[in-house]
Amino acid sequence: QPIIVWFRQDLRIADNPALHHAAQSGRPIIPVFVLDDVTPGIWKAGGATRWWLHHSLTQLSDSLRQRGLSLLLRRGPGDVVIADLAEQVGAAELVWNRCYEPYAVDRDTRLKAALKGRVMATSFKAALLNEPWEVLTGQGTPYKVFTPYWRAALAVTAPDRPLPAPDRLLPWPGDLTGDALADWQLLPTKPDWAAGLRRAWSDGEGVGERAAAVRLAQFLSNGAANYALGRDVPGIDGTSRLSPHLHFGEISPRQIWNAAKMAGESVNETFKVQIDSFLREIGWREFSHSLLYHFPTLPERPLSASFEAFPWTRDDTSLAAWQRGQTGYPIVDAGMRQLWVTGWMHNRVRMIVGSLLVKHLLLPWQAGERWFWDTLVDADLANNAAGWQWIGGCGADAAPYFRVFNPVLQGQKFDPDGRYVRQWVPELKHMPDKYIHTPWTAPPVVLRGAGVTLGRDYPAPIIDHALGRQRALDAFATIRSSD
Ligand code: FAD
Repeated sequence: QPIIVWFRQDLRIADNPALHHAAQSGRPIIPVFVLDDVTPGIWKAGGATRWWLHHSLTQLSDSLRQRGLSLLLRRGPGDVVIADLAEQVGAAELVWNRCYEPYAVDRDTRLKAALKGRVMATSFKAALLNEPWEVLTGQGTPYKVFTPYWRAALAVTAPDRPLPAPDRLLPWPGDLTGDALADWQLLPTKPDWAAGLRRAWSDGEGVGERAAAVRLAQFLSNGAANYALGRDVPGIDGTSRLSPHLHFGEISPRQIWNAAKMAGESVNETFKVQIDSFLREIGWREFSHSLLYHFPTLPERPLSASFEAFPWTRDDTSLAAWQRGQTGYPIVDAGMRQLWVTGWMHNRVRMIVGSLLVKHLLLPWQAGERWFWDTLVDADLANNAAGWQWIGGCGADAAPYFRVFNPVLQGQKFDPDGRYVRQWVPELKHMPDKYIHTPWTAPPVVLRGAGVTLGRDYPAPIIDHALGRQRALDAFATIRSSD
């Protein structure tokens, strides 16, 4: 009787507790992945993550084949498809690694109930260092502020060593029909907008378990040494770029934790500080997942109830200008174009573009969240929702709404030589450093010299900063007084 391994957001062979359990069980294994766009409440994967998923499944399928297994692909509501499969093959056991999205928790609970007494279903911790229910306040409630959360988490975080990749796996000899990956049409064709993604992620070779391991090793030997400062500079390769790999589970936080700690210990105290600062960001990921688990409406509703009454505007023209990187604020436009072209955006710039949307433009954070969902290769329900609520001032431990980022000062501080802007907004390539973040203040002779006509080659700012700031504060005052 076979054991089914249901792959979800754990597209890796090494340090995969569900697969490891299956290998140890001695039973023949059926590995399966279900493309699920229909489970109630699901946030259907966006365009960029579908592109990533195609390549990630290709790699996973190759790795499994090398070990003797053929990855079965099926489509439909995950719990129904898996229950049918278990019935069809007379499975003795079913294993998976846990997910924390509310629809996934409901779906998995339904499936366990449906199989009860017939198939032994077991789930494992693999996507987080600590389960959301393992880090709670003294009162047994979830933390809503990061620093005490992380302090408490660090006190209990003691990850074991990662599990090795299994050598050979026992295939189930029966005949099963599944979809071909190409049938799912995860890659865009008409139009093919993925050229930038292919460039950014080595034609798909930059996706998958092997690429994730290489990325981690490169980061630990390069960017990590200056992470605490470098992580805020979008013009350099100062962060790990592991986010899509982590989202799809091509690498586990336990693997990262162990490798980073080992690297930290082997160098010196200064390096260890940098490593701790990096692991703190892994902590933000843990915190965001805990928030999503304990507050399942996080992706749709503000955590802070007073924000339900916030007077957001609806303005499709401004939203489109923001999405296309045509706001007239160079650092914002650079970020939005980096996102569109590569499927990834630097964290500092995510905060700047988000702030412009929800404060200067008064557009709802959910509009930004949706756009990110469709365009990020690392689109992740927990991190994205928590990030947007943080920006919106309505989330856990959020930036207060009244603190409005000045996009010019942010640009000048974090991209002082304009390297990042020049890369993504080439029409400003020849602007002198002095005006790179404020082209509208450049004298005509400078603009002429740089070959820029404002309003033709590059837009004037979509809204004046001081005006936008005041408008945001006035809007905020309406909900503050109603508190
Ligand atoms: P590194 O700096 O190398 O950090 C290592 C890892 O820690 C990241 O890969 C990520 O998994 C985690 N991490 C880092 N910063 C955060 C954070 N602030 N919150 C949660 N986890 C974090 N991250 C996503 O993975 N998916 C998203 O959909 C997403 N949406 C965001 C939306 C907004 C508005 C904001 C402000 C942030 C969002 N983030 C999201 C968090 C963060 O911007 C990215 O995780 C980070 O930029 C990824 O780059 P990196 O892998 O080089 O990060």
